[in-house]
Amino acid sequence: MSLIVQKYGGTSVGTVERIESVADKVIGWRQKGHDIVVVVSAMSGETNRLVEMAKAIQEQPVPRELDVLLATGEQITIALLSMALEKRGCTARSYTGHQVHIRTDSVHNKARIVDIDDKRIRKDLDKGRVVVVAGFQGMDEEGNITTLGRGGSDTSAVALAAALKADECQIYTDVDGVYTTDPRVVPEARRLDHITYEEMLEMASLGAKVLQIRSVEFASKYGVRLRVLSSFEDTATGTLISAEETEMEQALISGIAFNRDEAKVTILGVPDQPGVAHKILGPIADNNIELDMIIQNVAEDSTTDFTFTVHRNDFDKSLAIMKETANKLGAREVTGDSKIVKVSIVGVGMRSHAGIASTMFETLAKEGVNIRMISTSEIKISVVVDEKYLELSVRALHEAFGLDQLA
Ligand code: ADP
Ligand code: ASP
Ligand code: MG
Repeated sequence: MSLIVQKYGGTSVGTVERIESVADKVIGWRQKGHDIVVVVSAMSGETNRLVEMAKAIQEQPVPRELDVLLATGEQITIALLSMALEKRGCTARSYTGHQVHIRTDSVHNKARIVDIDDKRIRKDLDKGRVVVVAGFQGMDEEGNITTLGRGGSDTSAVALAAALKADECQIYTDVDGVYTTDPRVVPEARRLDHITYEEMLEMASLGAKVLQIRSVEFASKYGVRLRVLSSFEDTATGTLISAEETEMEQALISGIAFNRDEAKVTILGVPDQPGVAHKILGPIADNNIELDMIIQNVAEDSTTDFTFTVHRNDFDKSLAIMKETANKLGAREVTGDSKIVKVSIVGVGMRSHAGIASTMFETLAKEGVNIRMISTSEIKISVVVDEKYLELSVRALHEAFGLDQLA
C-alpha cells in the first residue's frame, strides 16, 4: 500500500459531471488499497472570472484582497469533490490551504510555500479518509490568505507530496503526459515516457505551461516522483519526471517550448563606460520587472547598444523607464517590439553533441524566419522571432529534430 498525492486541474474538475468522474477515479485508487490525498484547482475559467471581476473594480487590485477572492475558486471544488466521494460511500474531508497549515511567505499573488504541517492530514488518513485539499493557496505568518501564482495547484500538490513523503505525485490534466511540444500547436507531437527534472524545468521555464515551474523545482529538490497523466483516459501511464537520464540520452532534443508573452526593448548609442549595464538595467530591476534575455553589442565608436526582453505585461513600463534612462545617459534612441516570441529547444543530449545550434539556425533560415536574438545554456537554445512565425518555427524544428510521431 502506498500514499499517493493526486492533483486534478481546472478542466478535470470543470463541471459537476467531471467532478463526479474524478470521484470515481479516486475511489478506483482507494480500492487498490492506496492512501489518497487529492489537490484540486478551481473549475476551469473560474480564476479568470474572479480576476476579471476584481479588475472591473480596480485595475490593479489590492494584492491581499485579490488573494482572498481567488482562493474561493478552489474552495468550491474541494467541497463538491468531497460530496461526490461521500455520496459514493467513501469518507472524505475537504480543507482549505490554511486549515492544513500550508505556510507561505507574504508575497501576495506569488507566494512561496515555506512549510507544511502534515499532522492533520495524517490523522485523517489514519482514519481511512480521503483528504481533499484546495490547491493554489496558503497562509502567511500573520494568517493572511495567499496564493501561489497561476498554475499554482501543481506546486501545492508537489509540496504536499514532499511533506507527506508520498510515494508518487500524480498530476491529472487534459493531456496524457508531457509532449515533445504543446500538442495544441503541433498535432504530430509525441508523448514522452520519461523526462528528467532538469529538462522539465527548462521546458516549464521556457513556456511549456503543462506544469508550474515551481512545482518542478520542488520535485527536483525533494526527489518527489512526479507523473503527468490524463484525467480523461484510464489506461495511459503518462510521463514520469525523475532524476534518471537513461532513456533520454538517445535523443538529442527532448522537446520544444515557446513563450508568447515576450517583448523586447533596445537602447541604442549609449556612451560605453564601466557601469553602463548597471545604469540601464538597475532601474528596470528597481521596478520589480523581471528580465529574461540580455544582449550587449560590441562597442565600435565608443557607444554600445543594449537589448533585453521582458514579459509583455511589463513592456510599456519598461519602455517608459528606458526613455528616461536614455535621456540621463545621453543615448541616441530607444525602440521596442511587443510582437515577438521565444522558441527554445531543450535536451540533455546537447551536452555531448555539437552542431545542434547550426541545425536549428539552418532550419529556421530555410523557412525564411529571421532570428532576432539568440541565447544558449548547457541544455537549451532559445531564439526570439517575430510572433507571426511562431507556429511555423515550432513545427519546422519539431520535424528537423526528428520529434514527429512515427506514422
Ligand atoms: P490544468 O488545468 O490541468 O492545470 P494546464 O492547461 O495548466 O492544465 O496544462 C495542460 C496544457 O498544457 C495542455 O492542454 C497543453 O495544451 C499544454 N502544454 C504546453 N506544452 C505542453 C507539453 N510540452 N506537453 C503537454 N502539454 C503541454
Ligand atoms: N486556479 C488557479 C489558476 O487558474 C491555480 C491552478 O489552476 O493551478 O491559475
Ligand atoms: Mg495547470
